[in-house]
Amino acid sequence: MRQLRQATEDDAELQQLKAYIHHGWPESRKLCHPSTTEFWTFGDELSIIDDIIFKGQKIFVPSAMRSAMLTKIHEGHLGIEKTTQRARQILFWPGMVTAIQKTVSSCPICIPKLPSNPKQPLRSHSMPSRPWQKVATDLFNWNSKDYLVTVDYYSRYFEVDQLHSTTSSAVIQKLSADFARHGIHEKLVSDNGPQYSSEEFSRFATTWDFQHDTSSPGYPQSNGLAERTVQSIKNILDKAKTDGHSALLSILEYRTTPVDGLASPAQLLMGRQLRACLPSTSHQLAPKTIDLEIVVQRRQHLQEAQGRHYNKSAHPLPPVDKGDQVHVQLHKGDNWQPATITAQHTAPHSFVVQAADGGSYRRNRRFLRAAKTTPPIPDDPATPTPVADTQPTPHTSKPAMTTTMTRSGHIVTAPKKMDLYKTFTYTNKHTHSH
Ligand SMILES: [Zn+2]
Repeated sequence: MRQLRQATEDDAELQQLKAYIHHGWPESRKLCHPSTTEFWTFGDELSIIDDIIFKGQKIFVPSAMRSAMLTKIHEGHLGIEKTTQRARQILFWPGMVTAIQKTVSSCPICIPKLPSNPKQPLRSHSMPSRPWQKVATDLFNWNSKDYLVTVDYYSRYFEVDQLHSTTSSAVIQKLSADFARHGIHEKLVSDNGPQYSSEEFSRFATTWDFQHDTSSPGYPQSNGLAERTVQSIKNILDKAKTDGHSALLSILEYRTTPVDGLASPAQLLMGRQLRACLPSTSHQLAPKTIDLEIVVQRRQHLQEAQGRHYNKSAHPLPPVDKGDQVHVQLHKGDNWQPATITAQHTAPHSFVVQAADGGSYRRNRRFLRAAKTTPPIPDDPATPTPVADTQPTPHTSKPAMTTTMTRSGHIVTAPKKMDLYKTFTYTNKHTHSH
């Protein structure tokens, strides 16, 4: 925050902006100083707190700090969508989303891990109505070590533990620790692994009073959430290893990054945002409850949308040509590696590529990724996403903050977007209401 304050101070454009925020904006856009015209339309949303400019609740990052912020935002290597959502919670600058896209799509650690586009089988698990009510669990092996993952259906918050053995009692020990931390869920979903189907595990379920659902044999995909979470965790561990960063820092980033256009797993589970390495204000970190109904509705909507998407036939990929630099996935699920297209094969959608490993391969278009195939994400503020913006409900009692007047002489409050947060009673029990 100190660096941001200094950089704001040193930035001529932001000083001009500050002057308008303090003394009011010109009546027309044309009368603005050229460096500030693009901010005229949302001048009302800008305020100054402790010498830092804010757009709503988001920090307006001065030019000099933008590349440092890009590095910090992408520290967890979480991919374009998640990185963008994380940034949109707390930071703003014109062109931020485009800059994030560029950073992520050219990140040497992220490129090999870009996802394949599998047709995900539809899962119709009943929707939980509150945090840590229904939890999925699974075991996985990474770097010759065994791990246990538990993931909450409601918040997508996961716990991951290293196992010293894969017996029932080792799994039970870790699960009990999760219960001690988050409480006992009502329902646990797992596969039919020997750890979960043992007599000992069934006694555990009785003693701790929860229902245990094992996915039907032959349909392991019905434990899809646990499996997708395992894939995410493995990606995090792989990337942290490549980057030399602490995997726990990446896990923290994951937990503080919005999921499904709602709020972060931590926010959904614990009702507060966790302090991580990005700058954050105490207002952003104060406890806020998310309306349960909105979460359930949003999930239902996403599930329906996923159903519609699944039923549509595959949409065509952008064309590629001989000589193009691409990335190739030799087998589904493999890492993407750089390659050059050397010929178009006579078979439709089939190309011959020279890959980075020196080999020459014939692959379907589906396994090639053009240099720029990232779908454009609309840039803030032209088209704000409907719910991605986790703006707290405006309230005016912020004793430690200097609020600034707008050109019309009103106190700045953030525009109400979606009533994601229930009124919270944290600092002042009697005056908050809306
Ligand atoms: Zn990366």
